[in-house]
Amino acid sequence: MRDLRLYINIPYCTNNCIFCDIRNHMVEDCQREAFYKAIIKEIESFDENYKHDYIVKSIYFGGGVPGSIRPNVIEEILSNIKCQFTVSSDAEISLKVFPGKLNDNYFPVYIEKGINRISIDYLTNSFFLHNFLGHKKTDNAMDRTLPVFLKNHFENVNYDLGIGLPGQNEANLEEEIHTLCDFHDAKEITLHPLKIEKDSAIEKLYDEHPEYLKNSNRFLPDIQRSYKYVKEKLEERGYTEYLPYCFGLEGFECLDFKLRKKNTDVIGIGPNAFSCVDGITYSNINDLNVYLENSDNFELIATDIKEV
Ligand code: SF4
Repeated sequence: MRDLRLYINIPYCTNNCIFCDIRNHMVEDCQREAFYKAIIKEIESFDENYKHDYIVKSIYFGGGVPGSIRPNVIEEILSNIKCQFTVSSDAEISLKVFPGKLNDNYFPVYIEKGINRISIDYLTNSFFLHNFLGHKKTDNAMDRTLPVFLKNHFENVNYDLGIGLPGQNEANLEEEIHTLCDFHDAKEITLHPLKIEKDSAIEKLYDEHPEYLKNSNRFLPDIQRSYKYVKEKLEERGYTEYLPYCFGLEGFECLDFKLRKKNTDVIGIGPNAFSCVDGITYSNINDLNVYLENSDNFELIATDIKEV
């Protein structure tokens, strides 16, 4: 049997970050039930040969922040995956969550259903930057108890740290590293350079105020310099960069990332999800309405099909 990764794209988020283009193709509240059914229909549409030919080594729930959806939906998706595919007993099952909107009732169910890795959409510890960027973090009770809770329940918790953020400098990067390593006890940290997505609000802001870009040394710090600084500081603390921008303590590297690096076949479920399987690559259609109506029909949702 060959190794397989599954990526479940759930483009749902209650934030509105100015650098992110998710608003252009997001599932709205009124579409959520239809969306979950469409995801299940797509999973059920896979040929049963996959069950015999492949073994699923990692399942990644990403997109926006799927950790804000009800755990029974995650449970239903996982049980359908287990009917349709052979899932390794030690598969890594990751869920992306947003720190400001955690629901402590959800976590015991996630754990019971097999989620064994959490990836936190952390970005920064700065409330000013959270507000400026629209990545609205709230200081709720769960945030304060989170490090201890996660430490007790998950071996591996990844923190996504933004670099190249407006106004970020070495002093506040040092503070970020201290918070993640000493307070959150992060085993794994993934760096996310600020990327200005096409049609995002930040791109429009720069179009309207080109002086921000001209003055980019002050407004947007040098990403390479920030990266080198963080890398040096994390290496001093015993983290290894096992893949570009991915740092982990020994034994805590993300399996999904490592399989991706080895070009392991992947099936992407959900709108706009990318797949590469049996030497063929394709992407699911980005148009949510077309996806909702036709998610079980490969011919109608697969786009940009290529042999590699
Ligand atoms: S929280 Fe993440 S997914 Fe949501 S808008 Fe911000 S960057 Fe995009």
